[in-house]
Amino acid sequence: MSVLVVNSGSSSVKFQLVEPSSGESLASGLVEQIGEPEGRIVLEFRGEETEKRREIADHGAGLSAAFEMLRDAGVELGSEVTAVGHRVVHGGEVFFRPTLIDDDVLKKIADLSELAPLHNPPNVLGIEVARHQLPDVPHVAVFDTAFFHGLPDAAKTYAIDRDVAQAHGIRRYGFHGTSHEYVSQQVAQFFGRADLNQIVLHLGNGASASAIRAGDPIDTSMGLTPLEGLVMGTRSGDIDPGVVMHLRRSAGMDVDEIDELLNRRSGLKGLAGVNDFRVLGQRIDDGDADAQLAYDVYIHRLRKYIGAYMLALGRLDVIAFTAGVGENSTGVRADALANLEGFGIEIDADRNALRSKDIRAISADSSTVTVLVVPTNEELAIARAAETVAQNID
Ligand code: AMP
Repeated sequence: MSVLVVNSGSSSVKFQLVEPSSGESLASGLVEQIGEPEGRIVLEFRGEETEKRREIADHGAGLSAAFEMLRDAGVELGSEVTAVGHRVVHGGEVFFRPTLIDDDVLKKIADLSELAPLHNPPNVLGIEVARHQLPDVPHVAVFDTAFFHGLPDAAKTYAIDRDVAQAHGIRRYGFHGTSHEYVSQQVAQFFGRADLNQIVLHLGNGASASAIRAGDPIDTSMGLTPLEGLVMGTRSGDIDPGVVMHLRRSAGMDVDEIDELLNRRSGLKGLAGVNDFRVLGQRIDDGDADAQLAYDVYIHRLRKYIGAYMLALGRLDVIAFTAGVGENSTGVRADALANLEGFGIEIDADRNALRSKDIRAISADSSTVTVLVVPTNEELAIARAAETVAQNID
């Protein structure tokens, strides 16, 4: 029995069939270039990759095509799938635990689109299509914001007029919560200890940091939206809000243009023209000054957050790197933590250079803080959460 995990994002739909207890991924796939003349659907099943190219008008058509490919490959969705877990980006103040989806829940998720206009609408479409295709199994929403719901007031409150903030739901929500929670739990298991103080660095195309005390987050870098915080592939991260007013008044840009600039044409892409870290690395090796500056800004911001979270935690036990860049870039890990021996943080170059899919320590024996590389697995976390909700339906 397995759980189908659906991540219906702004530019692609990812899906995975997961066996929650073993953690095995039975099938996985991706639908991309939605709305373009030639869309792409890829399915990996039993070690074989199948690819189809055809026009995919919208997310609904994309998910339908994915279901069709799974069925063509011989997956009996109706009998094999016990639940569907949906990644939903924004849960607002309303949702802070995995939630069984009914019409009312779906409407509330759609209403939260005001807070997450780029993310919640495609999530809602994915849920609608999947419910239509698999009407007889429970569908469960797992929220990216949920883990950070209980952030301390001082960390979650923006210093703006309280009435305005309250009227418009303006607070720091935090995102990537499923990954931060999963990784911090993996760390606790690795040590067999629940009382650890950790900094988790989720460095993928989107990037975020969190400070976690004994399993509970006390701060995180993303805010009302996933735009705040670290420098990302295409997002600016922290920026003086005055920039927005300046662009409006002096450059005559409207709010959608500014939104697009900060979310899609900023970060590494804005500074160096590329958002893929591997390409950025090649450009730096070739002597590209823009690529070098983008990297330096990225590392500078990352170190600022690490320093801030060390102070917020008071005592630091673990720094955990995860996601595409965090798990794979030895250079980012080394540069993020360079020259911190005075703070008890020291990476071992040979351990850092080792490649592995397993959780592993890369700090020197003399380091008082243990530095770990922890592969994240949001799909598995969502599958397990969905299964738990499905098993507890009255
Ligand atoms: P994610 O969003 O977690 O899938 O991460 C995507 C990011 O990870 C992209 O910027 C990739 O360039 C980066 N990435 C993946 N593999 C590597 C690698 N071997 N070295 C450096 N960056 C990598």
